[in-house]
Amino acid sequence: MIRQLSLKDYEGVAGSALIDEIRSLGESLQGYNVRHINSTIIGGGVAEILSSLVPLMEDVGLTVNWEVLAGTTEFFHTTKLFHNGMHGQPVNITGEMLENYLAIAQKNQNLLDGDADLVVIHDQQPLGLTAFRGRTRGRWLWYCHVDPRYAVPEVWYFLAPMVATCDAAVFHLPEYARDLPVLQYFMPPAIDPLSDKNKEVSPADYEAVLEKLGVDPEGPPVILQVSRFDRLKDPAGVIEAFKLVRKNIACRLILAGGSADDDPEGATILEEVRSLAEGDPDITVLSLNPDANLEINVLQRRADVIVQKSLREGFGLTATEALWKGKPLVATPTGGLAYQVLNEETGLTARTVEEVALQVERLLVNPTLGRRLGAAGREHVRQRFILPVYLYNWLKLINLLNG
Ligand code: UDP
Repeated sequence: MIRQLSLKDYEGVAGSALIDEIRSLGESLQGYNVRHINSTIIGGGVAEILSSLVPLMEDVGLTVNWEVLAGTTEFFHTTKLFHNGMHGQPVNITGEMLENYLAIAQKNQNLLDGDADLVVIHDQQPLGLTAFRGRTRGRWLWYCHVDPRYAVPEVWYFLAPMVATCDAAVFHLPEYARDLPVLQYFMPPAIDPLSDKNKEVSPADYEAVLEKLGVDPEGPPVILQVSRFDRLKDPAGVIEAFKLVRKNIACRLILAGGSADDDPEGATILEEVRSLAEGDPDITVLSLNPDANLEINVLQRRADVIVQKSLREGFGLTATEALWKGKPLVATPTGGLAYQVLNEETGLTARTVEEVALQVERLLVNPTLGRRLGAAGREHVRQRFILPVYLYNWLKLINLLNG
């Protein structure tokens, strides 16, 4: 969902010095045409970022298009296998699936119509479009939003030749660099502090949303994980950790998530999670609509401790959102989470179910610790992982690409 945004609205949160630098970087890029291509308009981290980045790039004077690849159920099943395989899970990909993947790219060639100076391919789904690079004159950039270090060979060696036809690849973190014959850049994503998901919420809205969701504004402390229902987010592990904590402290668990159009596994995992939580009055499993941004915002503000127990995580915007709200966060130090949760400084790290339980307990019995970590977490995010910083990094990258 593209919003109307103006860079000057971010001065309060980012400071005028950064806003001025962005404007001056943008001066040489007036009318520069960027075409972002991904595979869903709503749901998941990439859509979340593009919905804010695209209008701000335009506000700076660039001409920006956001195109969404039209896929089929079979295609998204295959690309979900790619996603899992990129994260190191064994996958069974057939020749027929690969043919179908390429056929969908062919059907989407029209997304390249127009005169882009820069085509940005987000993640694995639209990479097949590289076969039609000849239709365009501009540069191509592949933006990988996952942690590719553990990619299984059958996925990586299918995708890598397509990446090799691009001018550059962008990864979230330096350690994600791969053996590729293209320039590689590193740029973590960001949250939009002014979006419905992250803005301050009035008391009236806060109460109304909690009531709608059936969440008690009072009562025992709430532990929360917000994530797509995906095994890599380990919702089962979160439930186990919660049960350990509850043996010692009265508390409740909320698992909130929804689906993304390009993630066909979500419904199955949701059912698995529901059956694990069944009959437990202290566990609430919320299946949210993809546009439930205010709901997520309010849930994060209601939570006493937020957990992100991902087994793998490209960056982990849900953690960024939690820190931005000054909440104490317990997260596995995997992928981008390790850059956000600096142990004992901006949050607490934990790897196993038992460690998660222990750290959550520490925070529940010591709210002063939680407030200290939360405040430091918010400032950590403000300096590094908010939209104006991200836009600044993008403009620097475009200038670098242009030599
Ligand atoms: N999200 C959402 N609704 C949900 C689950 C997640 O809007 O039901 C959002 C979440 O708030 C975050 C993004 O989707 O902004 C997820 O990004 P993240 O990097 O945490 O994980 P990904 O889903 O990309 O693996």
